Amino acid sequence: MEKSKGASGLSGSRQKPFYASGLRFSCTRCSACCRYESGYVFLSRKDLGVLVKALNMGYTEFMETYCRWVPSLAGPERLSLREKSNFDCIFWVQPQEGPGGCSVYNARPLQCRAFPFWPHVLGSQGSWKDTAADCPGMEHGRLYTAEDIEAWLERQEAEPIIIRKTERFKGGG
Ligand code: SF4
Repeated sequence: MEKSKGASGLSGSRQKPFYASGLRFSCTRCSACCRYESGYVFLSRKDLGVLVKALNMGYTEFMETYCRWVPSLAGPERLSLREKSNFDCIFWVQPQEGPGGCSVYNARPLQCRAFPFWPHVLGSQGSWKDTAADCPGMEHGRLYTAEDIEAWLERQEAEPIIIRKTERFKGGG
């Protein structure tokens, strides 16, 4: 499973969503969403502050070591974590013994915390099902109510990812 296609933002008005009766999800920590395929982990300002503090690094050092700017044909560049050459997240580690996992788990970005309640995954039941095909945690376990899900969507909207306008978009507002 890819790490993300990128948050698309919430639609302003929605009809009764397909998840009105709630959705089930309990992460099995299989790491499929953190590894194997290229993807993006976009960062908000809050994410960046939490990670910098957790790693006791300066912002510049952190950005140069762990981040990349992702170009977009339709808008400004977005700030993402880097990935390794094998497409694992830069923070995914495999200890000598025991299962591997996220080395910054307690400081992980909102995008990781909010999965699978991302705007584009919740855009339709088909999108939810497609994503669930690659995630053994979806459609099992804890029931998230529609209110729980809306709260995740609202939080993502309130903590937008960091962008930087390129020359092409500086003139366009
Ligand atoms: S169960 Fe799903 S969310 Fe949890 S690590 Fe696996 S793919 Fe990721």
